[in-house]
Amino acid sequence: MKSKEIRQQFLDFFASKGHQVVASSSLVPHGDPTLLFTNAGMNQFKDVFLGFDKRPYTRAASSQKCVRAGGKHNDLENVGYTARHHTFFEMLGNFSFGDYFKRDAIAYAWELLTEVYKLPKEKLLVTVYAEDDEAYDIWTKEMGVPADKVIRIGDNKGARYASDNFWMMGDTGPCGPCTEIFYDHGAHIWGGPPGSPEEDGDRFIEIWNNVFMQFNRDEQGVMHPLPKPSVDTGMGLERISAVLQGVHANYEIDLFQALIKAAARETKTTDLESPSLKVLADHIRACSFLIADGVIPGNEGRGYVLRRIIRRAIRHGYKLGVRAAFFYKLVPDLVIEMGEAYPELVSNKTRVMDTLKQEEDRFFETIENGMAILETELADIAAKGGKTFNGETAFKLHDTYGFPLDLTADVCRERDVTVDAAAFDAAMARQKDQARAAGKFKMSANLEYDGAATQFHGYEKLESDALVL
Ligand code: ATP
Ligand code: MG
Ligand code: MG
Ligand code: MG
Repeated sequence: MKSKEIRQQFLDFFASKGHQVVASSSLVPHGDPTLLFTNAGMNQFKDVFLGFDKRPYTRAASSQKCVRAGGKHNDLENVGYTARHHTFFEMLGNFSFGDYFKRDAIAYAWELLTEVYKLPKEKLLVTVYAEDDEAYDIWTKEMGVPADKVIRIGDNKGARYASDNFWMMGDTGPCGPCTEIFYDHGAHIWGGPPGSPEEDGDRFIEIWNNVFMQFNRDEQGVMHPLPKPSVDTGMGLERISAVLQGVHANYEIDLFQALIKAAARETKTTDLESPSLKVLADHIRACSFLIADGVIPGNEGRGYVLRRIIRRAIRHGYKLGVRAAFFYKLVPDLVIEMGEAYPELVSNKTRVMDTLKQEEDRFFETIENGMAILETELADIAAKGGKTFNGETAFKLHDTYGFPLDLTADVCRERDVTVDAAAFDAAMARQKDQARAAGKFKMSANLEYDGAATQFHGYEKLESDALVL
């Protein structure tokens, strides 16, 4: 089954259960300064959950464009390293606004997975919030899932991948306990069930999260009960497609295969397994959809996150031997794959291509010299058996060659080296002081305006981990 059919079956199933099918909202959240990009299907319904907004329906379903790069849920560093994370992905969701609650939500999810998509029950396992006896009982007694396949998980903050069965949109806003459904891709793949020490592997992949929206978390962290208990669910289209297409990694699904082939064509790469091709296939989706939704590459806020993703993509192209603009040439392939479901890609195609090409032309002017400096420093580190990349050099790369810190860090990570971020920050602060003392900001042809970090602090206040330099 193709991913577009899987998307349609999801929406049809929930329409048959009385849900209004609602179009995806923009990746740029409207009137919500707490959010960098739309990161879940529930974002456009936030005020409905909070009781500030009313809709003519109490049940809805959607396929929502999401970006998780920067912000509360940031998966940029996972791309290329896990089988299941993208910067851009589609989240299939069903929602109840004070209508049905736990029992129906779980029953619908189980019916869709086991009767419509016909997944073998023995390959599924679920987690519930540790104290949620009600959800535990529904799974074990009503759905008949064996007790050893229902895992109780509490707050487990801090760990990079560890399950946390209390879902929050951001540091503030609607939240609640959740129950997550995992698919077992088989013992040949490394990884353990949620809650186990090996859980950060990709054997057991979370496909669907059902959140029981019960609270509004305020800035002090106090939980206020919502007017009516509600349901918010999210299933990654790429993950369920991988399961239904009998493949393990999202990158093996139909849609990604087409993009990987396009990336191979434009970079003249014969090894289709190259991780760089996966990164390019991922990043062309995020960049194109963000530009189509009005984000422009720049040095602050959303625009800077976009610029960082574009430059990471260019660096992977460079790694594959490309020395001139190529990334924009993947846009027509993306339009073929996704233009039908998202007409904004079709109508903005030329603008997306022009914007990307302009960014590429600019970065290709400095990348060669920047990479030479980076490589020299890395060779020096390797010769000395070191593990740390000089923060001053990282700053020079940022300031003079347009290398965002996370790009330098990404290259370093491939060599098992970490950047001295504190020294980078110090160099940045020193330059700002000097500029202030001089009474003006220095600008020159290839000098990056230092507003990037300054501006990020604005978001940092709103979203704890927005600053992912
Ligand atoms: P994970 O633990 O695998 O990072 P998550 O718990 O952060 O996922 P949720 O916030 O619960 O994800 O989002 C709901 C669903 O969206 C997930 O069950 C998954 O199917 C999908 N999803 C989440 N993040 C990504 C991503 N970066 N790329 C692709 N799909 C994703
Ligand atoms: Mg996650
Ligand atoms: Mg999870
Ligand atoms: Mg989850």
